Amino acid sequence: MGGVLELKEMSYEICPTCGARIVEIINKNKHTNGHYNEYIAFECGCEIHFSPNFMKEEIQRKCPKDPEEIKFQKKRINARNKLIEVIHKLDVDEQFKQNSFRSLGIFID
Ligand SMILES: [Zn+2]
Repeated sequence: MGGVLELKEMSYEICPTCGARIVEIINKNKHTNGHYNEYIAFECGCEIHFSPNFMKEEIQRKCPKDPEEIKFQKKRINARNKLIEVIHKLDVDEQFKQNSFRSLGIFID
């Protein structure tokens, strides 16, 4: 691995959910307790952060292959599609519909 990918606080070699390899390690801002702010990104998109303040790891971005995450994203996609449908069906001018989409962060061609 060379000296570039050097974990100081955490001990992952692969994504704990799907086994994807590490693509980025950042450790910076050494805390007064001697520990680093450390961040790992995996090839799948999962991100884990270690906080020296709390001496605790937390998942910053869940692995997209995590079953809970898949369910969560599916719900969001379904909700988004329903919103699009509802707005399209509204008896209102096109400008209002476009503004509604935009305010929801939905961009349609
Ligand atoms: Zn993963």
